[in-house]
Amino acid sequence: MGLFSKNKPKIKVQSTKKDGYSGWIKCTHCNEMIHANELQQNLHCCPKCNYHYRLSGTQRIEGLVDKDSFVELFTELKPCDPLSFEDTEPYTQRVAKATASSGRDEAVLAGTCKINGVETALGVMDFSFMAGSMGSVVGERLTRIIEHATSNKLPLVIVSSSGGARMQESIFSLMQMAKTSAALAKLHEAKLPYISVLTNPTTGGVTASFASLGDIIIAEPDALICFAGPRVVEQVIKEKLPPGAQKSEFLLEKGLIDCIVNRFELKDKISLFLTFFTGNERTFSEEESLPRLSQKLQKLIKFKEVAALTKS
Ligand SMILES: [Zn+2]
Repeated sequence: MGLFSKNKPKIKVQSTKKDGYSGWIKCTHCNEMIHANELQQNLHCCPKCNYHYRLSGTQRIEGLVDKDSFVELFTELKPCDPLSFEDTEPYTQRVAKATASSGRDEAVLAGTCKINGVETALGVMDFSFMAGSMGSVVGERLTRIIEHATSNKLPLVIVSSSGGARMQESIFSLMQMAKTSAALAKLHEAKLPYISVLTNPTTGGVTASFASLGDIIIAEPDALICFAGPRVVEQVIKEKLPPGAQKSEFLLEKGLIDCIVNRFELKDKISLFLTFFTGNERTFSEEESLPRLSQKLQKLIKFKEVAALTKS
């Protein structure tokens, strides 16, 4: 992999030989030299500054679920081109290119898995396929996994990474926002937990629908999470945004997300929440079980415990 090749990774490559790749790369965040092997062992986080590099869908699943427990579902849904859309090139051609370069057939993987032994429905977006944009297949696969969770009484985890709605599918892609949200409302009615994990970047129609609807919303550090990106907002309001605006830390301060979790701790944290929500059968004293009081108390206790968990 050469320094000037078109396929170079986003992180800059320092080559010691003219013809090749020595394995040393320069962190785009802290400019320190790090070795690719070290980066890989470190779950693609910079060992010097802890910058979280993007993961593919497969890498994300490997890091999150119990070994070999992921069973992918709904792979029969494939993208089509209902509008015969063409910009600088036909949509079908773009899909074919994205499939070839990413090795994926769409921007999401959905299925069932175990997370520290807890049976869970899981959706993971893959940014490498057309910037993780949400077209009708992404929306449908996610809706089906949400419905699968509802009918099989499973908790749900969705890891988002997306540039937003897929413009090539126009209204069909916008409709996915309402569809996924409606399916999540049914999951909520069935009293099943949904944990939304936001990774860098989560933007547009994905932020504006299912990604923001989690019972618990977790974000990775320094992730861009927004509806419209900073440049667009600055152009519209004709003002500079404060530093770090639309990043996880800023959103945590403003109350839009519940906690920021390092990639190393993500699996355990999710599993802590899953165990809490699925295995927490509370018993109340007689006084507490007065119908109305009990409901209020349960809500309060849940709220306090969740608050404690997100902080720990
Ligand atoms: Zn770094």
